[in-house]
Amino acid sequence: MVTPELSHFALRFVGPDAMHFALEVMLGFMGEFDLIETFFKRPARNATLGVGDDCALWPLSTGQQLAISSDMLVEGRHFLSTVNPRFLGHKALAVNLSDLAACGAEPKAFMLALALPEVNASWLSEFSKGIWDLADAHHCDLIGGDTTRGPLNICITVLGEVPAHLALLRSGAKVGDDIYVSGHLGDARLALEVFRGRLTIPQNVFEQARLRMEMPTPRLALGQALRGIATAAADISDGLLGDLQHILKASHVGADIDTAMVVSTLASGFMCNLPLATQRMLTLSGGDDYELVFTAPEHARADIAGLSVSTHTPITRIGKVNDSQQLRLLDSEGHAMRNEFESFDHFKSD
Ligand code: ADP
Ligand code: MG
Repeated sequence: MVTPELSHFALRFVGPDAMHFALEVMLGFMGEFDLIETFFKRPARNATLGVGDDCALWPLSTGQQLAISSDMLVEGRHFLSTVNPRFLGHKALAVNLSDLAACGAEPKAFMLALALPEVNASWLSEFSKGIWDLADAHHCDLIGGDTTRGPLNICITVLGEVPAHLALLRSGAKVGDDIYVSGHLGDARLALEVFRGRLTIPQNVFEQARLRMEMPTPRLALGQALRGIATAAADISDGLLGDLQHILKASHVGADIDTAMVVSTLASGFMCNLPLATQRMLTLSGGDDYELVFTAPEHARADIAGLSVSTHTPITRIGKVNDSQQLRLLDSEGHAMRNEFESFDHFKSD
């Protein structure tokens, strides 16, 4: 029987390789609860009660609302079996934090539900490191979860706090608002297309694109800075046009998008000048970007330029909200283009 104490002993007194070996040996006996103790239990910093009981307990701060969101990653669907487990741990939490960013919420805690085909100590050690590094960077407690045997599947639920009535919603965009995106779009999809064998690009560009796909950066500082400034926001997980459509629908408005303003620095860089049509597909409907798309009134332009600097986040104005009830795409000359781009849908897209 491997006790938690024994596992911690191994972690403290042997080097990483020997530690993995020792753990692999011990894990012949390791069950569900030893696994949780070894890889996923830490003293909770902010929770009243963390991992170990039937429920976690969370103390709500006065004047704050809880923002809660879940995202699931399924092997073969959201990631390849060959992915570096540390990156996978990072991404599983990052995509969830991105939803909190889109609401302007501050991350506080998360729950981790895991289905694992087997107990592989070195994999779990790397995977949990990826999670802990990002969780620590945002002072976010792991307060519970569930662990079962099954096809590899990672489901995280995040809890954040946002001052009451200041959450950024999809439903607040107003006619006349500007439309913005953070960062650069299309890089993650560029890497995916290379993995799928549909595109060939120089190796060093691929490495950068792959990092954008496997290690996305949730725009938390920007989301929080946009409280009281942005009228609506969403994070871009399924492609810009699809996620912007959610804002337009919820706000009962339309928009014009200047497609020339939406660029992938990697796809358009001199190292790999991809055809314009490919670049447009990557940036407009690529997906997996985890950037923010948001709307704000014209009088907020100076504020937004300021918070781009203060949060170290590139921000580009890409269009305008109107009352057309449609999403119109304009080319670099301002002519309307056919919208042939499909956003990602798990039951329609490949
Ligand atoms: P229950 O059977 O009551 O649902 P479990 O026995 O499954 O609880 O889990 C025991 C404790 O370990 C609980 O506090 C649960 O939240 C926590 N837990 C289970 N799996 C994980 C995990 N992957 N990461 C973090 N905490 C976990
Ligand atoms: Mg229980």
